[in-house]
Amino acid sequence: MFPLLKYTEAEVAARLAKVSPDAVRGSLTKKRHDWFDLLNLISEAAQPFIPQMRQLAQAARRCYYGKTVSVYAPLYIGNTCVNSCRYCDFRSQHTGTVRRNLTLDEIRAEADAIRKTGVDSVLVVAGEDPKVNTVARLAEVGRLLKSIFSYLALEVAPQTEDGYGELLAAGYEGLTCFQETYDQNLYREMHPAGPKADYDWRLNTQLRAGRAGFRILGCAFLLGLGPWRREAASLAAHAFYLMRECYEAKVQFAFPRICRVDGGFTSLCEVDEGDLEQMMLAFRIVFPQCCMTVSTREPPAFRDRIVQTAADNMSAGSRVTPGGYAVLADNRKQHLAQFKLSDGRTPDEVYAAIRANGQEVVFKNWDNRI
Ligand code: SF4
Repeated sequence: MFPLLKYTEAEVAARLAKVSPDAVRGSLTKKRHDWFDLLNLISEAAQPFIPQMRQLAQAARRCYYGKTVSVYAPLYIGNTCVNSCRYCDFRSQHTGTVRRNLTLDEIRAEADAIRKTGVDSVLVVAGEDPKVNTVARLAEVGRLLKSIFSYLALEVAPQTEDGYGELLAAGYEGLTCFQETYDQNLYREMHPAGPKADYDWRLNTQLRAGRAGFRILGCAFLLGLGPWRREAASLAAHAFYLMRECYEAKVQFAFPRICRVDGGFTSLCEVDEGDLEQMMLAFRIVFPQCCMTVSTREPPAFRDRIVQTAADNMSAGSRVTPGGYAVLADNRKQHLAQFKLSDGRTPDEVYAAIRANGQEVVFKNWDNRI
């Protein structure tokens, strides 16, 4: 469990099992919600209330985000990695993945290809390779990309608070760091070697970035490792903690489900689409102001539906390969990819789907103070 939570795993499980329909109704009628409401809304007892949860989540979403959907693209700058995450094709031991780190010229080519689609926000992604992806290199990449995009976020190895200060100065404002699992024992099993084996260092990543001044702090667990209700209870506790400690920043949720990888890893716990929807609705109701992303790991129909009720932003035309937008020929992309995507639509097809549902595509929703 999230270490600062004062309830044990067994106590959380017992509370979830005891939730009654009346407790769910109570959580659905409250104006302000707490961690116990989150438990009520993710419980099995809440399943018959999904239609009401959809309505309430949609109303909460409209209060903060109107009918808009922000779009972004991930930009993979390299896939070398010293870690051994059992579920990832970028892990150091996996020989089936071709390794590559892009040069600055290649990164510019990728960025130009993304920008041509209209996308104005990028998430810079790289494997954890401290010799290659130093703070200095990430800052250099940031300065280059900031001349092309309005908003930059990072999904790279956790850094020190000073490192985040340098990256903020280079133009990054957002950070994503998946805890993968809040269960310390399972975490050890899934991350047997490399710097990522340090649970606490990873857990405090958002705190260090928030203290350095990052504006968006992305949190998630990997759906399919631990039982999802227990992990969701920890994620919510983590979010409440960050909202207290880094009150000037905004928490962003993502709910990535394990995708098939070439290395053969399969989910340890099933999370079906109904579970995923229930969880996303519950988080939107309890955290109406927070950002929420829907992953490209999900099929188009689900993504198009959930951006109307819970999520407020989504990627468009994603490539999970270094060089996937412009640098590589099509037949080489798959051997460098982190996972297999479920939504293979072009950016224009994603925008058309958003507009067909009466929503507006937003490319830029923030400007720095001058
Ligand atoms: S999940 Fe991240 S840290 Fe782990 S092997 Fe993949 S790229 Fe490396």
